[in-house]
Amino acid sequence: MSLTITSLSTEIIDIPLRRPHQFSATKMNAKPFLIIQIETNEGITGIGEGTTPGIWWSGESVETMQVVIEHYFTPLLVGKDPRKIEALLAKMDRQVEGNEFAKATVEMALYDIVGKLVNVPVYQLFGGKVRDSIPVRWALAAGSIEADIQEGREKVENKEHVNFKMKAGALSTEEDIKRVIEVSNGLQGITTTGVDPNRSWDLKITMRWMDELYEAKVDFLEQPLPTWDVKGLARLRGLAKVPIMADESASTIQDAMQLIEMEAVDIFSLKIQKSGGMSRVKTIANLAKAAGIPCFGGTSLESSIGTAACLHVYSTLTNLTEDCELFGPIWLADDIVEEPLTFINENVFVPKGPGLGVKLDMDKLAKYSRKNRAACSQS
Ligand SMILES: [Mg+2]
Repeated sequence: MSLTITSLSTEIIDIPLRRPHQFSATKMNAKPFLIIQIETNEGITGIGEGTTPGIWWSGESVETMQVVIEHYFTPLLVGKDPRKIEALLAKMDRQVEGNEFAKATVEMALYDIVGKLVNVPVYQLFGGKVRDSIPVRWALAAGSIEADIQEGREKVENKEHVNFKMKAGALSTEEDIKRVIEVSNGLQGITTTGVDPNRSWDLKITMRWMDELYEAKVDFLEQPLPTWDVKGLARLRGLAKVPIMADESASTIQDAMQLIEMEAVDIFSLKIQKSGGMSRVKTIANLAKAAGIPCFGGTSLESSIGTAACLHVYSTLTNLTEDCELFGPIWLADDIVEEPLTFINENVFVPKGPGLGVKLDMDKLAKYSRKNRAACSQS
């Protein structure tokens, strides 16, 4: 069968959050997404979603992704066979350096097309799932010690989540560490938490406090140091206290190789967006497996579309043993798919339908479209 891509369309939307989210560099009230639709001559449409924690995270944003996809990827893709995913990724790599989030967005829609074409869920294209659901860690980012402890306790009592991850980085390293220890102690006997300072901590001060963090039973220390400081991560890991997780430092396949070679991490945080797509995440997870390193199912705070894509690949990994943080769909105040993903207690379930297994809700797409909102506010 001759199958070709006939067009690509993109739409920036903003979905409100249930509560503001405090990152090291910014506070957020709504989350922007770039929704992509790829049409084919056979009437199959693939959908994908691009999103980043913010331009501070990787240098990409929904706006940069829209430019890259519309101006540079669309001419490469129209008229091509969407089944040739590796060949198309190679073309995109040759045309545009970096911009992994934009590449991942396109790749997601291509896998959706292929899954729908052969009538199988995308996880089947990655070797089949080894689990039906993954436990979800909730991010404690309410903005104060008391609020974080209270939120953690309530989530456990309501059986919504069992384990947590705290955001940090808004304070100085020492103040931040004291806060993490207070929250961790406040949750003791009930649950535990990891911490993610998003590369904002100072190596020397962190080294001084590693014993206390360990004694407070902090689960893991995720990306405490700048992205480039792999030697620093190796030094922290060398103390053999709190397990060290790499996130920003573990974006590309080559990053993963370097971290393994330098024995710099105990856990890899996987994310399809930062790595340029699902196939590359699978490669990184397999490198980790070869080195005996477990993986954590990271998120770029996707909505149901991107979360479905994560679930399709994460569910095929035998070494994803450190839970996930795919809470995006329940963190957002509304959904943009017709049937929401299934969350039961602390678990999120892998969708079963063909392709990504989620359908875009066209009314919601129009409702949250930035373009339409701008038009409304001008009239
Ligand atoms: Mg992180």
